[in-house]
Amino acid sequence: MSAGLEKEIERGVRLHDFYYVGRDLCCEKVRVWDIVQAVGTPVYIYSHRTIVEHFRKLKRAFQSLRPLICYSMKANSNLAVLKTLVREGAGLDIVSGGELYRARRAGCEARKIVYAGVGKTGEEIEEAIRAGILLFNIESTAELGEINRIAGRLKKKVKVSLRVNPGVDPGTHRHIATGKPESKFGLDLDTAHAVFIQSPGYPALSICGIHVHIGSQILTGEPFLKAFRKVLIFVTSLEKEGCKIEYLNLGGGLGIIYSDEKPQTAEEFAQEILPLFHHRKFRLIFEPGRFIVGNAGILAARILYLKKTPVKNFAVLDTGMNDLIRPTLYDSHHEVWPLEKDPRREKRVYDFVGPVCESGDFLARDRSTQELRAGEGLAFLSAGAYGFSMASNYNSRPRPAEVLVKGSEFAVIRKRETHGDLLRGEKVPPFLR
Ligand SMILES: *Cc1c(COP(=O)(O)O)cnc(C)c1O
Repeated sequence: MSAGLEKEIERGVRLHDFYYVGRDLCCEKVRVWDIVQAVGTPVYIYSHRTIVEHFRKLKRAFQSLRPLICYSMKANSNLAVLKTLVREGAGLDIVSGGELYRARRAGCEARKIVYAGVGKTGEEIEEAIRAGILLFNIESTAELGEINRIAGRLKKKVKVSLRVNPGVDPGTHRHIATGKPESKFGLDLDTAHAVFIQSPGYPALSICGIHVHIGSQILTGEPFLKAFRKVLIFVTSLEKEGCKIEYLNLGGGLGIIYSDEKPQTAEEFAQEILPLFHHRKFRLIFEPGRFIVGNAGILAARILYLKKTPVKNFAVLDTGMNDLIRPTLYDSHHEVWPLEKDPRREKRVYDFVGPVCESGDFLARDRSTQELRAGEGLAFLSAGAYGFSMASNYNSRPRPAEVLVKGSEFAVIRKRETHGDLLRGEKVPPFLR
């Protein structure tokens, strides 16, 4: 991210491929208002170009080590988004059987899939082994035993890497820190060491990698460096004891700009990290999620009502925490930009709230913007990661449509849900008829 781009965000002019042409907010070469008129609101809109650019930035920065970049698909798992990245050569980082299914449907080669998560079921493990994924990232010794048992039954030798918890505070929101000593993720270094010593006890497994992912939205290189140094010392001691480490999975977690953050760029990150690994022969893996899709998406919505109370101006929207839960869950900041700018209007401070019956149902609070009118459209920026993928049907609200823009074209990549979709699978039992 360049300093120039930061300034443009501050001025509300541009964020990557979302920018104003005259008064109109555009995504690449399409007016957002045109999409809204064709598809309705609320709608998630993604820029194909931004997704590809961000993937390439990371790939370019680490080019000298040729890492496998496995996009962390929980950030945004729409098939078209996955396909975009798979076509660029990305692998995928999955965390469930459902994600494995999506990954396969998106055409991702199994040997580019890595599988993390503390609670993989026997069924999910079996499916992933049968599919022939590259690596399981193991989160506990109990899971290791389970995978060994299933692999043995299937007469397969399965590659696994141990997710270690380096005990590092990434300085991010507590709900997205995953590498602190009290976190549920990974194995502490002593336990991981014991597993390597006992590896002959897992005959169906090849324990050949180390995985570390310390959290999300990390803005500086320092926590990464701290964690990776610890991991390297650990790996070196393992190698001295005769263990062979083939894969080093460095996780995801690269932070992005939501408001006034100044995250390290991919190049800066690479410059700090590369010296640690240049003289080593590991196959490196990265698992970026937010970095690739976060600023590639917006949530566009309409103002239903304006409501003035003695202390607040509320803009009541046709979207809320059911569609974008990050503000409620993590206190996260999303810039609010009008779809149509009017420089003649006065400034006013608003709370942007949804229709859901919860006081936590807000998307932005105390934001100064142009005076608004009911019926007008707004964009919530930086909504490409953990936006739609966390959306729910709470209050029986159909989930929004998703649209992908490429140049001057756009396509609906997920239809808006209908009321019929809401009842799919439900049944009234005979004793109530
Ligand atoms: C969520 C997750 C990621 C991606 O995190 P980002 O902050 O979106 O880059 C990577 N690896 C693992 C194991 C994860 O759980």
